[in-house]
Order: sequence, then C-alpha cells, then structure tokens
Amino acid sequence: MTEEVLLRVENNYSNKYKEGYPLLTKETVENADSLYEEGTIVVLLDPAGNFIGRGYYGKQNKGIGWILTHKENEALDQLFFQKKIAAAINKRSPFYHSEDTNAFRIFNGEGDGIGGLTIDCFGEYYLINWYSLGIYQFRKEILSALNLLIQPQGVYEKKRFAKKGQYLEDDDFATGTPASFPLVVKENGVKLEVNLNDGAMVGVFLDQRDVRKKLWDRYAKGKTLLNTFSYTGVFSVFSVLGGATKTTSVDLAKRSLELTEAQFSANDIDPDTQEIRVEDVFNYFDYGIKHGLKYDIVVLDPPSFARSKKHTFSAKKDYTQLLKNAIDLTEDKGMILASTNCATFDMKTFKGFVAKAFKEKSYKYTILDEYSLPKDFPTHPSFPEGDYLKVLFIKKQGSL
Ligand code: SAH
Repeated sequence: MTEEVLLRVENNYSNKYKEGYPLLTKETVENADSLYEEGTIVVLLDPAGNFIGRGYYGKQNKGIGWILTHKENEALDQLFFQKKIAAAINKRSPFYHSEDTNAFRIFNGEGDGIGGLTIDCFGEYYLINWYSLGIYQFRKEILSALNLLIQPQGVYEKKRFAKKGQYLEDDDFATGTPASFPLVVKENGVKLEVNLNDGAMVGVFLDQRDVRKKLWDRYAKGKTLLNTFSYTGVFSVFSVLGGATKTTSVDLAKRSLELTEAQFSANDIDPDTQEIRVEDVFNYFDYGIKHGLKYDIVVLDPPSFARSKKHTFSAKKDYTQLLKNAIDLTEDKGMILASTNCATFDMKTFKGFVAKAFKEKSYKYTILDEYSLPKDFPTHPSFPEGDYLKVLFIKKQGSL
C-alpha cells in the first residue's frame, strides 16, 4: 500500500472535520508543509491523535485536497473508487432509463463522495473533469471502474489543473473509440450538439436542464426573448421550441454565431428566422436602451468573471447593475430569467441584488420560480459552497 502522510488538524477545526467537512485547507492543518507530491494519501488526525478521515492531497483554486472516507480501515484503492462510482450510477438510474434525455452528470465531486472529480454522460460517450493533479493520480483506478461499470464507447477528459507546458495537451481523448464531433445528444427530446474535444466548455451546461424545461413549457409561448451571454444559444432553442415568436442571442465570442446556428438547425429551426449577434452584451444594452427596445423575456446567464475590451464583469460586484440594464429592456409584466453560477455568494445575497436593482429602478417584482442544482448534481451536506447554481424567474410588475 502507498505510504500515507499523517496530518494533524489545528484544534479549532477538529470538530468541523469530524462533522464531515470534506475540503482540506492549508490553514486548518498543522503540518501542511509535509505534503509535496500530489495524489499522496493523507490521514487526518485530531489533536489527540485520533483518526478523523482519509483523503488525498491535490491543490485546487480552493483547498489542498479532499477527505474521502471517515472509516479508519477503508483504503483508497480500486475497489473504493468502483464502489463510489457504482453508487453514483445507481442514483442516475432514471436518466439511464429515459427515452428523451441522454446527457447528464453521473458523478458530481464531493456530492458523490469524491471531491475534485466530475463525470458527465453524453450518450455513449463520457467526459471526466480532473480538478487537480492529485485526483489525476487515481486516473487508472477511475477509468478501470468506469469501463467495468458502463463500457463507454469513448471517454474524454479535461485536466482542469493543466498549465502551459505542464500536462496540457491538444487532444482530450482518453480511451475507447474517438467520437466524431459535433456529437448530437438529447435533452427532453431536444437535440443538442456538443464537442468534447474543444476546450473546457462543451456546448451545453447540463446543470440548467430543469431551467430550460421550465422556460420551454411554461413561459416562452408567444413571447420575444433576449438571451444574453448566450454561448451556443441553448436557451434560445428551447424558447423557440416552446413557441417564442422571436429570439435574440448575444455573445461576445465569434464562434457563438456558428454554434448557435448549428443548435437551431439541429432542431429544424431556420437560424435566419432568429437574431444572433456577436457583440459585447454591455454594448447591446446601451444600444437597446437608446433605441427603446423591449423584450417579454430577458435571460441573464453571465460567467462569474468576464473580461472584455471595455468591461470587467464580476457577478458578485456587478450583478445588480446587470439586472438594472435588463429591467430597462423588459416589457412591463415581462420576465427576467436571472442565473448565476458564482459560488462566492448564496441565494439570499442573490435575491438581495434583485431587490436592490428593482428598488433603484422603481419597479415592483415577484419571484415566480427559483432553481438550484438539479438531481444529477448532488451536493455534500457539509459543503454548501458546492451548491453554486442560483436561478430566479422574476416578473417585472408596475412601477413603485
Ligand atoms: N447562457 C449560456 C452559457 C453562458 S457561458 C448557456 O446557457 O449555455 C458564458 C458566455 O458569456 C460565454 O459564451 C462568453 O463568450 C460570454 N461572454 C462573456 N463576457 C461577455 C460579454 N461582455 N458580452 C457578451 N458575452 C460575453
């Protein structure tokens, strides 16, 4: 068995770890300096020397590793990974039996018992995200478990820890048979084109599935929609299928144009009937306000941070202003679909941004629906930071 490094927890943090907090942080252990090789198995001890848990050392933007078990005699071997992945797959049984959805997450990091690792299913193909070099050291065990349990057609992987000159490769193909891209998958019967071999983003964010369905089923019919930060335009596609009269998708990335056209075409929607703009959203807001444009629905789904030529956007600092712009472009009795994946504030704070924006614009509002992560993205009860998604459907009411 590989050598384990014993880590002594600082007194003040002992209870937190005993209660199940899974993320290992540098400040909370006395001898973090004794860790040098990522993937090292660590054993966490309380100040009296009693066993708390076992995990691995792996540096992410937050934390230096994850605790994976609280059972003293449980080893982090092939069988361990196999059991965790099998349990996660069992939980997704409804997805595996679904006729109309074949794109979903089968393993969600600490929520499924292994921080630093996610696995998504795209039809016959799977995508692994390794969030540290530490978890990547268990690649062989994890790939074997996946092959044993599901026999994927092919597996792709993203080394999220890789840097220029270090582990960075052009090709994300891992094992099996390579896919030909774009790969067409299904979500509630809607076709989505994905590419698992072209950067960190694959064309669709699976965590918004329920939000897209709601927009489609309940709100889009007969409405005009402005989709900001539209990426491949998936919110627009669902809206048109739900009966929207016209969609306008705005994204700064040049590639968003062809990718959005392709998502429309895949669903037999003529892209020429829709508006797709490659443009800075903030310029478009200025333009829209100047020309008095109004939409029945405005979708806001920005990244947590973004830098364009003229603007730096931080969800935490600037979401209120973003909402104020959206309020200007929303018809009275219209709706704003406000979403954020920013993990550094919670739903309460997000609702605070909404309250502030509407107050400053002197409009009343009601929250029609609210969403957080879907079922295939389970979170860890002791790690609320993992519950990052916050979505509000907000109706703009009369002026204050
Ligand atoms: N809403 C999308 C996902 C958005 S991903 C979906 O549901 O699929 C974030 C997108 O914001 C990226 O495509 C990026 O190109 C875009 N983006 C970032 N800053 C921007 C800006 N200032 N103006 C327009 N688009 C921007």
